[in-house]
Amino acid sequence: MDALGTIRKFKEILPLICDAETSADPKGWTPDNPLWGHCAVVSLIAQNLFGGELLRVSLEDTKFANMKSHYWNRLIGGREIDFTEDQFCGERPQGLTPVVRARSYPLSHDATKKRYKLLAWRLAKALNQENALFEDDIYRACFNAALDSSCQKFWVGCVITNCSGMIYRGCNKILEPLKYFCDPKCIRFSIQSRTESMIGACGHAEEFAIWEMVRRKIPLSECEFYAAGFFTDFMPYNKKYPEFTCLRCASQIYLAGVKTVYVPFEGRWVGLTAEECVKQAAAYATKEKAA
Ligand SMILES: [Zn+2]
Ligand SMILES: [Zn+2]
Repeated sequence: MDALGTIRKFKEILPLICDAETSADPKGWTPDNPLWGHCAVVSLIAQNLFGGELLRVSLEDTKFANMKSHYWNRLIGGREIDFTEDQFCGERPQGLTPVVRARSYPLSHDATKKRYKLLAWRLAKALNQENALFEDDIYRACFNAALDSSCQKFWVGCVITNCSGMIYRGCNKILEPLKYFCDPKCIRFSIQSRTESMIGACGHAEEFAIWEMVRRKIPLSECEFYAAGFFTDFMPYNKKYPEFTCLRCASQIYLAGVKTVYVPFEGRWVGLTAEECVKQAAAYATKEKAA
């Protein structure tokens, strides 16, 4: 990752973006202990940034029993690091044996997932202060949707608006019959981006969006699509040109007769017609242009 290359920088930024709203214990949270109640969400985010494993212990029978559990990280190479250690004010329970937990374990709690997404948004925003889209509600909805993606490589959030406002939020997701394409490692890591768009385990965010509109019988000619990409460390994908670059989606957007497609470019949304999307994406598919 570029903006947040070091553990030190992550540690510096954390107290600035944590508050009662992102704490598991909003009533017990105080400004002098900003990391209080943040172990699960911070450890999840740290895993996005630095990889490695999520460690958990039960806090039953400790002074902090009301917090139920504590999470920290084991980095690649084995070093353990507890980004929210300071919340215990020097009294971190010692001698507890942790177990490795999958991300799905803490994220299965809706409240935790909500706090995780909020904290991730604040982190991305803090690191992209020059990007005006971080003040935009639709962009934020794209970000929130993108964080539900099951893709190992890249997350896309897609929002649809029509005269009734925001009517859909979704993301790219693994298609069950193609799951083996990313087991254990996503096949897309070895394919040039924007090419061979049919090869991959994921259905694209825009495809799910189109089919959902068909199911709901909402005319696509009245729909405006917004699609924004994010890396798995929450950083936005910044396009070199204000263009749509996926031929797989562009063809379907064209056939579905989608009114307008908006892509993020230099801090704003740029609107494209379906025909423009197809023409632009074709140049990437043939490698005339590279992303
Ligand atoms: Zn994928
Ligand atoms: Zn696509």
